Amino acid sequence: MSPLPVPRAELVVDLAAVRHNVRLLTEHCGVAMMTVVKADGYGHGMVEVARAAREAGSPWLGVATIDEALALRAAGDTGRVLCWLTVPGDPYDRAVAADVDVTAYSLAELAEVEAAVRRTGTPARVQLKVDTGLSRGGATPADWPALVEAARVGEVAGHWRVTGLWSHLAASDEPDHPANDSQEQVFREALAVAEEAGLTPEVRHLANSAAAVLRPSARFDLVRCGIASYGLDPAPGRLPDLGLVPAMTARATLAMVKDVPAGAGVSYGHTWVADRATTLGLVPVGYGDGVPRSASNAASVAVGGRRRPVRGRVCMDQLVVDLDGDRPEPGSDVVLFGTGRDGGPTAQDWAEAAGTISYEVVTRIGGRMVRTHV
Ligand code: PLP
Repeated sequence: MSPLPVPRAELVVDLAAVRHNVRLLTEHCGVAMMTVVKADGYGHGMVEVARAAREAGSPWLGVATIDEALALRAAGDTGRVLCWLTVPGDPYDRAVAADVDVTAYSLAELAEVEAAVRRTGTPARVQLKVDTGLSRGGATPADWPALVEAARVGEVAGHWRVTGLWSHLAASDEPDHPANDSQEQVFREALAVAEEAGLTPEVRHLANSAAAVLRPSARFDLVRCGIASYGLDPAPGRLPDLGLVPAMTARATLAMVKDVPAGAGVSYGHTWVADRATTLGLVPVGYGDGVPRSASNAASVAVGGRRRPVRGRVCMDQLVVDLDGDRPEPGSDVVLFGTGRDGGPTAQDWAEAAGTISYEVVTRIGGRMVRTHV
């Protein structure tokens, strides 16, 4: 049998790492886990990550859109799924019929859910979100009592069960930021309002990954962990080392090696000029594959296990690295980022080089790269 061709560029997603991370976070937090798998599982593959998370005991999955929740159902997921970002006219009927927990921020959304319940003849599961200070989705504290009362009336009428009350933090990656205390306080007040009105939700939740790890008081009944489930640090430099394992490795196959003299300008705009005779390696991935162009002249890759700096601009399909006189064979393995073991670069390293966060690096990478789950 002939060997499989090595892909030009590949994302290898280690599902055992996802399972490990989900178990670790569940144990660390001591409450139920909602693994957040929106945006195609932060670029790791939503359906595959969802299965791994379920295997690791995650009773909840979190997604942004109804379409994402329905894609999980279409793939056979039958567990609890919460979605939280809808627009008027979204397919609430299908969400209700598929037993998805939908989030309501407003009376208008409750009205859409009620209409869907009437059309489908199926009672819904509704979670209410209060905006405690992020100023994104959710009812303001001023509008919260009216939302709670409408939800209570709808529950008594049998339209739905109010399964959860929740909010989202603005600065959980900065544990000393005053917004953390103030948002938690506003959340507790909102819970008290709901309790006085007679709502008895299954789950109250506030924490994303950083808060789940750093702020025990924010854990309530479950934690919504996205980035940490993928093994990436939600608050670089601020977390204890929990032993999370990055699940994604982005690799490529070295396309070409060449010598250049001192003074050679490299890549578009000659933003790097060789200060000595050197050897360059051509790596066949670029911003067309989601490699951040803003990491030009700043990131590094590992070629045959050695760190090599990116020289010049990242192009659409390729980038150039400085091999500094070495001559690895074309066809050699190039790791853009991965677990960081053996000193290799991580998604966090690329994020720092690109002036962004690891979330953006892993969510955007892909394009034409082959994605393999192991
Ligand atoms: N909860 C909500 C509402 C979110 O939008 C997100 C992601 O942005 C998360 C939880 C997960 O956040 P993190 O990836 O920081 O754990």
